[in-house]
Amino acid sequence: MDMIIRHARLRGCQGTRDMGITNGRIAVLAEHLTEEATTEVDAAGNLVMPTYVNGHIHLDKCFLQEQMRPNKDYTFGECLELTWEHKAGYTTEDILERAGRAIQEGILNGTTVFRAFADVDSIGKLRGLEGLLALRERWQGMVHIEVVAFPQEGILRDPGTAELMEEAMRLGADVVGGLPWFEMLDEDARAHIDFCFELARRYDKDIHMLVDDTDNPLSRSLEYLAIKTLREGYQGRVSASHCGALAAYNEVHAHKVMDVLKQAHVSISSNAHISLVVQGRYDQEPVRRGITRLKQLWRHGINVFSSQDDVADPFYPFGRNDQQEVVAYLCHTAHMTAPSEIEAAFDFVTYNAARALRLPDYGLEPGCKADLNVLAASTAREALRLQQPPRWVMRGGNVLARNQVQREFDC
Ligand SMILES: [Zn+2]
Repeated sequence: MDMIIRHARLRGCQGTRDMGITNGRIAVLAEHLTEEATTEVDAAGNLVMPTYVNGHIHLDKCFLQEQMRPNKDYTFGECLELTWEHKAGYTTEDILERAGRAIQEGILNGTTVFRAFADVDSIGKLRGLEGLLALRERWQGMVHIEVVAFPQEGILRDPGTAELMEEAMRLGADVVGGLPWFEMLDEDARAHIDFCFELARRYDKDIHMLVDDTDNPLSRSLEYLAIKTLREGYQGRVSASHCGALAAYNEVHAHKVMDVLKQAHVSISSNAHISLVVQGRYDQEPVRRGITRLKQLWRHGINVFSSQDDVADPFYPFGRNDQQEVVAYLCHTAHMTAPSEIEAAFDFVTYNAARALRLPDYGLEPGCKADLNVLAASTAREALRLQQPPRWVMRGGNVLARNQVQREFDC
């Protein structure tokens, strides 16, 4: 046995377990393992969780806060404009440095899977994508990075982007991105979605779009995305982030959309802290929260997940690339505070996110990859209350990071 994690608490399990790890995978779980291993870790009754999965993060933009002029009102339009001033000057070295720092923070906070969005458009051309492909290469073997070719300025409203998206896939992007709601006309939004499906099918790739990221109830890309997924037989291969407009629809229409999302097995990512900052900016009181019908989607049986999205960039001034923090914000914003809801929210950054990304052998059963965290708390609620980083962060049975929080009274 290469490693034994002793006294591990597993959610939904009475008492503790010893977890034996061999060849990078979980080999055995038992109340007490008599044998010894090369490396022994004492979880001391704390939770062991599979690695956190960050299914939506803009690693080409991270830490631009350090060099950009400040936001004034944080509307989506302003956030976009501030990015224009930087992305034409991206270099691969610059992205490797900024994104590398975000990856390191992510690892310290227990995340070893990142789906990274790279802007592909007529301003930055393929600079963001080339930077993130180099990042994927540099961090290979340490963490799992997927690169999404993301048309941040639209496709129809930004001539030349269609050709650049094609080139991005040819260069090795893992996922086809999209931003249909940002097109000027409803028919353009549909043409945008059609284009992405055609591209994804040709390269046999999954799709992850940022959809209806607005409080405007007239933004209706999500239903077309879901119907298109069904018609193309792409069930289980499509994710949609944000979907704020769904919250603004009337109940009858919202239920129609949620029904078709469920049928199409479309996963929904709500990054509540980002929506709290960027949405509701045109509202007088009361100001809307800007998040989608998160709890309703979850209760409807739709695969909901949640992600960091932005780290200190034009869209968000904060962010530690910390999925525990993401869950904590989400619990507040979506009123997920009952015990079963807190447990479910933890699934949004673990099992549900892994399902959206179709990660193989993810979990804590024997046979799964030993990509896991030993937390500094014995329950999910306590982990969110204390907000301490995991004590051990492991990938393939190797320790990638350790955290020790030291606090002292001086009285
Ligand atoms: Zn985003």
